[in-house]
Amino acid sequence: MRKYEDTYQHKGLRRQLVNLLREKGISDEAVLEAINTIPRHYFLDSAFDKIAYEDRAFAIAAGQTISQPYTVAYQTQLLQLKKNDKVLEIGTGSVYQATILAEIGARVYTIERQKKLYELQKDYYFKKKYPNIKFFFGDGFEGLPTFAPFDKVIITAAAPFIPPKLVQQLRPGGMMVIPVDEGDNQRMLRITKKEDGSYAEESFEKFSFVPMLTGKNH
Ligand code: SAH
Repeated sequence: MRKYEDTYQHKGLRRQLVNLLREKGISDEAVLEAINTIPRHYFLDSAFDKIAYEDRAFAIAAGQTISQPYTVAYQTQLLQLKKNDKVLEIGTGSVYQATILAEIGARVYTIERQKKLYELQKDYYFKKKYPNIKFFFGDGFEGLPTFAPFDKVIITAAAPFIPPKLVQQLRPGGMMVIPVDEGDNQRMLRITKKEDGSYAEESFEKFSFVPMLTGKNH
């Protein structure tokens, strides 16, 4: 059994990480507070215990990654979360991003296409603390039509294009934050859906994600 311990040292490293994110331009206090609260080292192999609070991505199972804290903070800030927002996340991965959303008070619906990663939810440490996270095994390009509409959609893998079904599943006035391929890396976009079903697009910094792939991997 893995031992989970959040020591003063971990808490100190987390505060330093929050300061760094502030310096890098993250200003949403709810986002910074969530990062300060959630022990990121619980989401990584215990071998990464000491370096879990460096601002970098790490390998998890199935050849995937846990996003860099700056990326998590950046995407979450762009979502402009309100308490009880119904949020669809594509790419559960380590569940770290979903936990940050849940800590801020969102109702999270998260989809993962890698069976091995989906099954990690059985051991999800914060299951009792965040019953507001619901896990799904499936293809994010399809979204979750039965649970739509969503107030917000967040894609945590490199999308080749803006998936039309995910735009459909957004409520009018809702927002989607999505890194879209642009050659070697991705441009972070925020889409705001209009009453007539069309959307406005805003463009932000460039990032580097693992690819968003079609279909499921059993
Ligand atoms: N949000 C994650 C980041 C994981 S990396 C975290 O906080 O750790 C991106 C994840 O997206 C990977 O786990 C990958 O398997 C998943 N993914 C890629 N394409 C997908 C798709 N079409 N549907 C669902 N998940 C997808």
